[in-house]
Order: sequence, then C-alpha cells, then structure tokens
Amino acid sequence: MLVDYHTHHRRCGHASGELIDYARAAVRSGLAEIGLSDHSPIYHLGDDPHARPGTAMAQGELPAYLAEMRQVQAEMRDEITVRLGVESDYVLGWDEHYRTLWQDAGLDYVIGSVHWLGTWSIFEPALPPGRSAAQVYDEYLRTVQAAARSGAYDIIGHLDGLKTRGHLPELSLTPQLEETLRVLKSADVTIELNTSGWRKGLGEPYPGPEWLARCCAHGVPVTFGSDAHRPEDVAADFPRAVALLRQLGYTHFARFEGRRRSLVPLP
Ligand SMILES: [Zn+2]
Ligand SMILES: [Zn+2]
Repeated sequence: MLVDYHTHHRRCGHASGELIDYARAAVRSGLAEIGLSDHSPIYHLGDDPHARPGTAMAQGELPAYLAEMRQVQAEMRDEITVRLGVESDYVLGWDEHYRTLWQDAGLDYVIGSVHWLGTWSIFEPALPPGRSAAQVYDEYLRTVQAAARSGAYDIIGHLDGLKTRGHLPELSLTPQLEETLRVLKSADVTIELNTSGWRKGLGEPYPGPEWLARCCAHGVPVTFGSDAHRPEDVAADFPRAVALLRQLGYTHFARFEGRRRSLVPLP
C-alpha cells in the first residue's frame, strides 16, 4: 500500500484538475494515502502575478488552498487518507521565511524543492549568463544543502532536478554530491523517488539510479511522488519505482503525519 506525496492541481496555473480529482484518482490507483502538494506561492520574486505567469499560486491564494485541502480530506475520509502538503521553493537566504510560514500551517509534510538559483529557473534551457555548468552545479548543491539544514522541509523534491534541461555535468558522482548526501542524512530529511522523469522522457526518475544508490548507502529515507500535474498521472510508474528501490537496496519508505515520519516496509 503506497503513498503519492507529490501532486499538483489547477491553482498553480500549469496543472489541470481540482484537488478532489487527485484524491479520487488515488482511490482508483489503490494507494493507501494521497498527499496534496501544490506549488506554494513564490515569495522571493515579489507578488506580481504577471512576472512569472503560470508558475505557482498567488500569495493571497494560500489560505484558500489550505482550507480546500482540509475539505477534501474530510470528504474522502472513508475512502482514502488525504495528507496535507505543499511543494515549497527553497531560495538561499529565505530559511526563516519558509520555516515560519510552514510551522503553524497544520501540514503533514513540506516538500522543499530548489527551482530557483536567485532569479534563474533551473528549467530554463540556457545557463545563466556568464556561468558555467560546473558553477551552477556547485551552487545548486549548496542550495540543496541549505534547504535540508533550514529545518523548513521534511522532503527534498526531485533531488537532481537540475538535469531536466541538461544542466548536470556528466560526472555527477562528485565529492560535492557526497557532501550533500551527508548533509541530508544529518539534517534527517527524506528524499522522494519522483517518477515524472520517466514521463518527461529522461529515461530515469528523479533522482536517477546512481544518485538513489548513494542516497541508500548514506541511509537517507525515501518516499514516493508522481509529481502529477493531471489526475491521471497519480501513482504513475509506481511498480517500476518500487522495483528500482528494492534493486538498489532500499527496504522501507517514509510516510508522514503531522510532520512526523514513520518508515514502513516496501511492498
Ligand atoms: Zn509544476
Ligand atoms: Zn518541483
């Protein structure tokens, strides 16, 4: 009985379906739990809705999102456990902001994802002007480490998200990566096996098998996320994900309630 902790819905502006549609899709997929985790508002770029259209919900939308998740949880109570979450950006220097924001939000878990290095999105096709791939890789990993240390997050989202547009240098098993995994372990955060990499044609999930194997070796716990942006992608490729985790040595996965983690055996 698996969980899908990484899902979106129409509020972020680039996903379809309502929150309840994702919960219903999870029931059809036979999941034990569905986690709702839409993109939180972007704070470090200000609240101009036209600055980054279709990226995340507006800042004023957050209370309605939190309230609607609670409604869906109550409505689906007899069919499936609905966990309340959010995928929250981490930006260097914003530790206190995000720690405080999520502290009293009544969530079950918070996914911390590095989507931004300052004003540069990791999904942009070109590197930031004047910066090499190696420099970006270094800053990206330092940002991931800071996210883990910040205490604002329970799960680090798509750990190697930088590979999406080909910005990961080929030699990705580096001392900086090992250092990052030590930080994840000592900060006691969890990673996700995010299956959307397969759907995006990357030929592997986030993180890829090499990084996942190193996460396992460092004892960093793992959970599951489809990163569904449409209800039909809930739990996508989960049997494949379980098989990969087992093959790499994982025996358990993480579940969250009230920001407390428990480990349960993989099916
Ligand atoms: Zn998204
Ligand atoms: Zn993300």
